[in-house]
Amino acid sequence: MKVIKKKLDLKDTDCHTSEILKRLFSRYKYAPATALHFSTPLEILVATILSAQCTDERVNKITPWLFKKYHTARDYAQTPVKILEQEIRTAGFYHNKAKNIIGACHIIDKKYAGRVPDKMEELIQLPGVARKTANIVLGNAYGIVVGIAVDTHVRRLSNRLGFTKENIPEKIEKDLMNLIERKNWFNISNILIEHGRKVCKASKPGCESCFISDICPKIGIPVN
Ligand code: SF4
Repeated sequence: MKVIKKKLDLKDTDCHTSEILKRLFSRYKYAPATALHFSTPLEILVATILSAQCTDERVNKITPWLFKKYHTARDYAQTPVKILEQEIRTAGFYHNKAKNIIGACHIIDKKYAGRVPDKMEELIQLPGVARKTANIVLGNAYGIVVGIAVDTHVRRLSNRLGFTKENIPEKIEKDLMNLIERKNWFNISNILIEHGRKVCKASKPGCESCFISDICPKIGIPVN
């Protein structure tokens, strides 16, 4: 694992960044690409929209039934919003999510002949799709990597580990893209998500037993 050109002002954490990344990549080399279940670009798009502020586990309970009923973008586009709302209710924020899925599918059906676009600039024009969702769809469905998906785990860990001082996902993504080799952009999200779920949890980071505790700057972690 090599860290490319450093552009961040990481001060005293700077010298440890390379070693932190090396250890993370070595420990989580088999981190799953995404925990969301899908088999088509449309399915990963819908699942990712549903996963906003909801666990992947919960989304995976909703989607088997949903994907059995809806096969094409037109299927979603022609569904009354009230019906879809009830079907995805347990994912939370179901008014917006249903509206966005139907709106996005309407555009995919009309403008892209039913095919989920494979370009960042086209994906982020769809309702409910920002760079995070677009990066997930591109990387998982098409193997196209043009950025780094910044979800809640990636945001939290990037700050704690001193990779960024930003809070806005787009700015964090930029810092990570400056710090990490392009060939590792897809994996770094999955690795940070895995470490965030297993060790560096939101409410209770497991610093005592963490394998990078000796070099982690632990930014924002209260000292006991
Ligand atoms: S040492 Fe603590 S803050 Fe740093 S990565 Fe490990 S759990 Fe997170």
